[in-house]
Amino acid sequence: MIRHKSFQPQPAHTLYFIATPIGNLQELSPRALEIMSKVDKIACEDTRVTGKLLHHFNLQKPLIPCHEHNENLASQTIIQAVLQGESIAYVSDAGYPGISDPGQRLIQLALQSDIHVVVISGPSAILNALIGSGLNTERFYFHGFLLPKEGPRLDELKDLYTRKETLIFYESPHRIDSTLKNMLEVFGNRRAVIARELTKLHEEYLRGTLQELVEIDPTSLKGEMVVLVDGNKDEMSIKLSDDELRKLVQNLTETGLSMKDAIRQVSEMTTIQKNYIYKLMHRN
Ligand code: SAM
Repeated sequence: MIRHKSFQPQPAHTLYFIATPIGNLQELSPRALEIMSKVDKIACEDTRVTGKLLHHFNLQKPLIPCHEHNENLASQTIIQAVLQGESIAYVSDAGYPGISDPGQRLIQLALQSDIHVVVISGPSAILNALIGSGLNTERFYFHGFLLPKEGPRLDELKDLYTRKETLIFYESPHRIDSTLKNMLEVFGNRRAVIARELTKLHEEYLRGTLQELVEIDPTSLKGEMVVLVDGNKDEMSIKLSDDELRKLVQNLTETGLSMKDAIRQVSEMTTIQKNYIYKLMHRN
C-alpha cells in the first residue's frame, strides 16, 4: 500500500499530467497555464499540436515527443530527467492524457520510480457529451474506441448488451456509419446521442434513437464525435454467451421448430435482436 499526498510542501520530484482543451483554447485552466509556464520542459503527444497551444498562450518551452509509437522509450527518458531534478509536464493532443491517448505507461513508470504525480484537471469530451446528451448521468460506462473490424466489434457490443449504465464511445467520422448500424443490430432501437465538435464552432448534439441516427446522411457527420447509448432498461434481459445462444436455438430446432421460428423465440426470450442471432447462426 502506498499513500501519496498531492500537496506536500516540497515534493522532491514531480511529474504533472495536464488536461488540455478539446477545442476551445479558452478552456485551458489558469492552473494548467501556470504550471506549463513554470516547468522546465513539456513532454507531449504531438509537438505540432502542443506547439500551437503554447504559441496561443505566448509560451516557449522545450518539447519532448512521447506518443503511442515511442511511449516506452520516451517515458524512460522523461523519468530519468525528472529524477535528475528537471520539472516536466505531460500533455496529450486534447483532453486528458491516458484517456484513449498516450500517458498511461508514463504514469505507471513515474509511480514505480517514486515520482510524485499531480494531475491538473481540464476539459473532457466524455463529460461534456454525457451531460449535454440528456441521457442518465447517474451511472455511466466509458468504452473509448470500438475495434475497427466488424466481427470483433459486434462481439464487443454484445458484451455490453446487458449493462444498465449509459454507454459512452469515441468514434471517428469514417466509421460512424457502420458503428451505428452495428449498435442498432445488437442493442435494438435504444435512445442514443451523437455529440460532435464539442466546445468548437460547429458543436452539435443529435438526440434520437439508434434507428433515427442510422438514417442520417453519414457525410454530414464530420469532425470529432462521441456516441452515447441508453443502458439496458430491460430487467428481464438475460446475459448469454454466443455459444449459449446457439445451443438454445439448436435445442428448439431439434424439437421441430424452423430455424426462423427458433431464432424469433430466442430473441423474445432474451430480448437480443433477431438479426444478431441470425448472423450468429450463419457464422462459421
Ligand atoms: N484524451 C482525449 C479525452 O480526454 O477526451 C481523447 C483523445 S481520443 C484520441 C480523440 C477522440 O475523443 C475523438 O475521436 C472523439 O471521439 C473524442 N473527442 C475529442 N475531442 C472531441 C470534441 N471536441 N468533440 C467530440 N468528441 C471529441
